[in-house]
Amino acid sequence: MLLDMDISIALKNFSGSYDVKNFSLFEASKISERFPSLKLKTVNKGISIEIKCPICEGFHYYRYSFNELIKRELIVGGCEALGIPLFYIGNYDKVKQRVDRCNNVNRSLYAMM
Ligand SMILES: [Zn+2]
Repeated sequence: MLLDMDISIALKNFSGSYDVKNFSLFEASKISERFPSLKLKTVNKGISIEIKCPICEGFHYYRYSFNELIKRELIVGGCEALGIPLFYIGNYDKVKQRVDRCNNVNRSLYAMM
């Protein structure tokens, strides 16, 4: 079985919009380089993620199996303290769609201020 291990990650930054980057799950160390507040490790049949939250400034931990990553087109991880989405992981098109929508909302909010 050949697995496509390319994923996109969108992470909320400190200004409230999302940064989107593409990775292969086999380059976990690169992910931490590009997103200093996110640590991704491949563990037994899956990944574990540790995030320094830009909203509540605490640390949040998540764990997903490779199965889950492949089957679900979009995984949303949120701030446990406030219930606000923090990151999206999955298929590039889905991630991009979601992030564009959020970033546009942010831009129009800024425009109104
Ligand atoms: Zn948080």
